[in-house]
Amino acid sequence: MSGPANSSDAEKWLPYRHKQPAESQPELVVPNVMPTDERVWVPVEPNVWFRPLLMCVSRGYWCNLLRVRKSGVLSRHRHPQPVHGMVLKGEWRYLEHDWVAREGSYVYESAGETHTLVVDPHVEEMITFFQVNGAMIYVDPDGKVTGYDDVFTRIAKCRAHYEAIGLGGNYIEQFIR
Ligand code: FE
Repeated sequence: MSGPANSSDAEKWLPYRHKQPAESQPELVVPNVMPTDERVWVPVEPNVWFRPLLMCVSRGYWCNLLRVRKSGVLSRHRHPQPVHGMVLKGEWRYLEHDWVAREGSYVYESAGETHTLVVDPHVEEMITFFQVNGAMIYVDPDGKVTGYDDVFTRIAKCRAHYEAIGLGGNYIEQFIR
């Protein structure tokens, strides 16, 4: 017999009978991860966009898709906290490592890493899911800080874009927890 000893067949189909904790945030389901509305993609620079999925302000991280339609160096950055990534389309690499993150790959980026993201010329488009904890700290080749992004700067960029493009600044609210 599997499961708790007192569970009958009927009971196993019963939903949890009690309220969720009052402090627990509402769940979030994003139906079209690849949006049908192009305006959902927030431009970062020419031919580079991100698409918000979760902006977790209470724990200081965010989930988004990164889409790139150009080759070249995207950014050199340090991670104070780890990153999880999954390549949905295309490929990319870091100048500091000899591996290539190809379509279907899962990537774990360690806390403390500084690396330089590159998309090679044969790649027409890359789309990668990233869960970024804490911040991206942009640095020069010696590690001198040139800027940063965190969940709050990302929200601000989304708000400004959605306001300007006609979706309304409040469009980002649905992704905030
Ligand atoms: Fe990174």
